[in-house]
Amino acid sequence: MEKPRLLNYPRIRSLMRFCYRHIVLVLVILLCAGAGVTLAGTTHLTVELIEAQALQSAKISVKTMNEARVLYSKTVVNRVSNLPQISVGPQYHTVAGGIPNPATYAIELGEKLSSKQSGILFRLYSDYPFPNRLTSGGPHDAFQTEALSYLKQHPTASFYRQEQQGSRRLFRYAEAVRMESSCVVCHNRLSSSPKHDWQVGDVRGVIEVSQSIDQLLDIAQTGVKAISLSLVGLGGLAVLGTLLIFSYSRSVNQILREEVQLKTAALQELATVDALTQIANRRQFDQLLESQWQLCQPLALLICDVDYFKKYNDAYGHQAGDRCLQQIAGAIQASLSSPKDLAARYGGEEFAVILPQANAAAAQQTAAQIMATVQQLKIEHRQSEVSPYVSLSIGVACLLPSAQNQPADLIWLADRALYAAKAGGRQQIICSSELVVFPSLSP
Ligand code: GH3
Ligand code: MG
Ligand code: MG
Repeated sequence: MEKPRLLNYPRIRSLMRFCYRHIVLVLVILLCAGAGVTLAGTTHLTVELIEAQALQSAKISVKTMNEARVLYSKTVVNRVSNLPQISVGPQYHTVAGGIPNPATYAIELGEKLSSKQSGILFRLYSDYPFPNRLTSGGPHDAFQTEALSYLKQHPTASFYRQEQQGSRRLFRYAEAVRMESSCVVCHNRLSSSPKHDWQVGDVRGVIEVSQSIDQLLDIAQTGVKAISLSLVGLGGLAVLGTLLIFSYSRSVNQILREEVQLKTAALQELATVDALTQIANRRQFDQLLESQWQLCQPLALLICDVDYFKKYNDAYGHQAGDRCLQQIAGAIQASLSSPKDLAARYGGEEFAVILPQANAAAAQQTAAQIMATVQQLKIEHRQSEVSPYVSLSIGVACLLPSAQNQPADLIWLADRALYAAKAGGRQQIICSSELVVFPSLSP
């Protein structure tokens, strides 16, 4: 059983036909689609890279802040908090010998590092701020509220997203600040502490870093623009290349077509022209006789035969015989007055002439002209029994094509007349209708 082929479906076939017919348009569409996909992929990748870059940098910043806070807690606060002259607390600057507790230290460090100009913001906030920060220490906006609530549920996770603030694009990142053993004792002991039952691991607050990613976006945008331009350039080159290939293949096609036409014409000629004499061959003769017959108009036919040609060959050789035939063909051709007339090599040393619309008188006149032209050639023929030169015998026939006759009848009549001319002594013209013997034209 034959497998169903895709091209057997009419819709697919007509789609393919449409594509072949509009190949340039299809290529342009494909190129545009390819460029679009590439651009979308590049843009997506760039956005991912920007986010990854911002996330990495935010993580490092938060880790630095946390490390600074823990280091301060362990190496400073824990070592001096028991000394009588030292007081650790959020309002340390109001007390002699006061030093900031780790959270206050981190908050102030964050404030110092934050810069409105560069768009960097460090912030430590909590839903249990110390009384001196009751109004300023909690979350300030939706992101901070959501970050606090999310990180309380997922203390080891991180919370981040991009936000538009005015003309700035920010990347905001938050992590939970958890109670460590070094903090719990102090926080639960301090009277100003807002909560006294802290346990190790509890989420004390959130540390957030926000940074502008405008610069990264600008770089990415410039990059994407450059890629777009390159793609447009490449696409243009590809279309140009395609058009060049197309026009090249068209011109090659044209050349091939012309070559085929030339070859066909040459073959046509080979098929219709006699190789030796360069006049029409038997095939062309048959075709013309048939087509003229269909016109149902008077038609005359001459059959010319070289007299004693075998003897000529015997006397002068075959090559001389060939040259003789070529000269006779030329003479017959030259004797025709109408472009409609056709001289053909009928076979061997016999030539046939078709004279469309010619009556018997006109046909006899042409035959006489042929005889005279051949005699003027004066091709020596010592072995001829009728003339010192090569001569012809010609049979003439005329017929009006009808339902009762056919081309073979005209040939038969001309042949019969030729036979009569030979029998009558050669070098003469006999017309089949009358079988009138014309006087010899020999000198
Ligand atoms: P007739 O007067 O009765 O026509 O005598 P003929 O010798 O011309 O006739 P015959 O049919 O006996 O011989 C025809 C000769 O024509 C024989 C053949 O060698 C020669 N012939 C036929 N075709 C060619 C050809 O292409 N080249 C040459 N050189 N001779 C050819
Ligand atoms: Mg013959
Ligand atoms: Mg002959």
